[in-house]
Order: sequence, then C-alpha cells, then structure tokens
Amino acid sequence: MAEQVGRAALPPGSTIGILGGGQLGRMLALAAARLGFRCHVFCPDPRSPAFDVSAAHTIAAYDEFEALDCFAAAVDVATWEFENVDLAAVERLATTIPVRPGGAGLATAQDRLAEKRFLTGAGIAVAPFASVGSEADFATAGAVTGFPAILKARRFGYDGKGQRRVGTSADLQVAFIELGRAPAILERVVAFEREISVVAVRGLAGEVAAYDAAENVHEDHILRTSTVPAAVAQQTAAAAALVSSRIAAALGHVGVLAVEFFVVPGSGAEALLVNEIAPRVHNSGHWTEDACAVSQFENHVRAVAGWPLGPTGRHHDAEMTNMIGEDVARWASLAADPGARLHLYGKASVRPGRKMGHVNRLFARHDRGH
Ligand code: AMP
Repeated sequence: MAEQVGRAALPPGSTIGILGGGQLGRMLALAAARLGFRCHVFCPDPRSPAFDVSAAHTIAAYDEFEALDCFAAAVDVATWEFENVDLAAVERLATTIPVRPGGAGLATAQDRLAEKRFLTGAGIAVAPFASVGSEADFATAGAVTGFPAILKARRFGYDGKGQRRVGTSADLQVAFIELGRAPAILERVVAFEREISVVAVRGLAGEVAAYDAAENVHEDHILRTSTVPAAVAQQTAAAAALVSSRIAAALGHVGVLAVEFFVVPGSGAEALLVNEIAPRVHNSGHWTEDACAVSQFENHVRAVAGWPLGPTGRHHDAEMTNMIGEDVARWASLAADPGARLHLYGKASVRPGRKMGHVNRLFARHDRGH
C-alpha cells in the first residue's frame, strides 16, 4: 500500500493547520485525528468550536503576521474552512509552508464577479449577470438581466447576507444604498425547480472524484435540509458532477469544493445553472459523514495531506437537517431516536440563525422513490 502513496504524502503524526475554528474546522479536525494527524486551529474567536477537538490552537486575528508565522512554524501544511479567509494571510503562510488549496481559487470564489467571469470563461452556464460598480452601471446592468433581479455584493456575502431582490429598475438605487454602495453584481432571478449541490474533491496529483448531488432546501436563506439523491434525472446529476469536477480542475484546486446549482426546466431535459462555488467543505455535504465510507471531511484531509482520495460512493440515501438556533434544545429526544445520527458543534451560545448542529437520517438506497 505504501508505494501507492505519493512521495509528497504527509505521514500520520504530521500537523495540519486550519484557518478558521467553526464547525467545519471542528469536523475537519475530527476526521484528521482519525487518520493520525494533529490539527492546529488558527482563529480569532477564543470560543471556537474547533479548539475543543484540536491538539493546538492560536487565538489571533488573520492579519497578525507574527502569529501567522508562529503558526506556520508549528504546522506541516495549512488549509482553511471558510472562504472569506484573508487572502493576505494565505499568501503569508504560503511563503513558508504548503497551503492547500492555494490562493488562486480562493480569490476567484471571494468575488462574485470574478467567480461568474471564471465560470462563463470555462463555458459553464450561469444566470445572466452584470457588474454594478456605481449608479452609472444601472441602465446597462438592468438591460442585461431584466427584472426582477438580485443585487449581490461582490464580497463577503453568505446565507443571503449582502443581497437585495430588485423588482424594477426604480428599486435598484435603494438596494444599492442598502448594500452600502459596495461593488456588486446584478443577476437575473432564476425560476428554478430546485437547488442542488455537488461536493467534489481533487487530490494533490490532480485526480478528481465527486459525491452524489444533494437537493437543498433553504429557509430564511439558511440551508435547512440536504437530501440524497436529489429528485433530478440521472443525466442531470451526472452533468452536475462533471461540471463540478471541471471547476475543481480548472481552478487547480486541492481538496473539497462544493458547487451550488439551480435546476431549471429546459426544452426536453433539465438545465443547470451554477449559482456559487464554495472552495471548501460544505454544509450540503454533511450527509457524507454517515452515508459514505469516506466523508467530505476525510477526503479533504486526504487531499491536503497528499494521500490517495477515498471512495465517494454512498451506501445509503440520506437526509441531513440543520439544527438552527433553538432547534438544539431537541438534543435529548434526538439522542433517544435510533434513526437520528446527531452531530453537535459545541457552540457556547445559541443565537437565532446560528448553526448549532445537524442530524443525518439514513434510508436504504432507492427507497425514497426518486
Ligand atoms: P447565494 O448567496 O448566491 O448562494 O444565494 C442564496 C440563495 O438565494 C440561493 O440559494 C437561492 O435560493 C437564492 N438566489 C440566489 N441567486 C438567485 C437567483 N439568481 N435567482 C433566484 N434565486 C436566487
């Protein structure tokens, strides 16, 4: 077996550095520990959920270069668990240690305009969009997208934050001001049938694999459930996997990457539009923890460590439900439910809209009628 592992592979006992200490970092650290790695988590929040399950942590801001340098000296490779990580921090680390994935894909995913241009440049379909940098762009942008449209800040948006729906061209001004006149894109509102996502993983040697597409339902802009398989035609699911793998390859990505799609009725077959790329492990891939032999977290760790990727096939159908805010109070009844696989993030305080944990339920394959 050893000879099948590339020479760049990090041996067990090595330390993986993780920028970001949220639940994604926590689940990465748990998966890494299972393979014999140590994790060192870097996060400004002293109550980071990932600290509880990591060998070491650093509490510092992402622009504290001295702290970053000490962190770099203490780890063998670094990765991140959220895409709004400071690009300068990634670049600083990359001067002394491997950072996987690298900063190029991060820069693309951090900027909705760069992301959409990258996708169209790669021949991948997205909703019609246009750049809005100032009032002077309103007329041209509106002509490209039509109305209703959505104005989205180019940077730092998540869970629907930094977005305004715009009914008519007259509403654009208000939306632009509400977003603080931040550089934005205007996007046509897509009449989608459903939303799906694919979690793909690309190894250090360039090999790519994808998990099955999940169907996602959002409530108040926050993911509520991910269900696998998605209720789409097999060709649609296969096309989504192919597009996701192409994106991972085109970005030169190393590790897990999630691609969110809108499924729209087409002439004959369903069509896919890419909504967003998340260059990291993703909430819509949490079902892989229980329904696959190797989860998205383990596969990210494997890729970052230069190990062979693990299989991405699912042995069960699955439904993942997020526990948001006060939902976490149900932990005792869920713990007593033999069909519920409970994952709690150990967050110190409950806030409305805050992701506190999730529950996976498994079903025999194909018994959901899809
Ligand atoms: P985003 O932050 O871009 O992923 O958007 C969050 C959610 O807003 C998506 O999951 C969709 O439900 C909705 N949304 C975003 N863009 C569009 C669009 N162009 N048309 C319709 N719904 C959208």
